[in-house]
Amino acid sequence: MVPHKDEKERDCGSQHLSLVDAIRHAEQNLRCQHLRLEPYWGTTVENLGQVVGFQLSSRKRWRLDYDIKKGVHVNEENFDASPSNQKVVHRVIGTSSDLQVRLQWRKWTSGADMPDKVKEEIEFLARDRKR
Ligand SMILES: [Zn+2]
Repeated sequence: MVPHKDEKERDCGSQHLSLVDAIRHAEQNLRCQHLRLEPYWGTTVENLGQVVGFQLSSRKRWRLDYDIKKGVHVNEENFDASPSNQKVVHRVIGTSSDLQVRLQWRKWTSGADMPDKVKEEIEFLARDRKR
């Protein structure tokens, strides 16, 4: 059987030695290096209530993530780009745990004002769990 592959996602082709380098590359691709970005709040159970990246709009954004296969990486998303360039992964080499990611999320979150929408989502989730 052929293993499932996410066709829409591609690697940026660079070997990033640091998180800052990976973020810089994503922002270059999105052409938003010198623009004011809004915090991008997590939407999954693991990162709800935390700032996981930054966005120019809901169509152009990047977020920091970790998984076993890719390690620490930045997911660049540009829904205005051609289909093969909408999702680009910037891997940070030599990283083997999600600690760096969690610390960075915490740092960004501590400097941001949580929108009411996010607060409501957290309350909703807490209520849902009690059932
Ligand atoms: Zn890159």
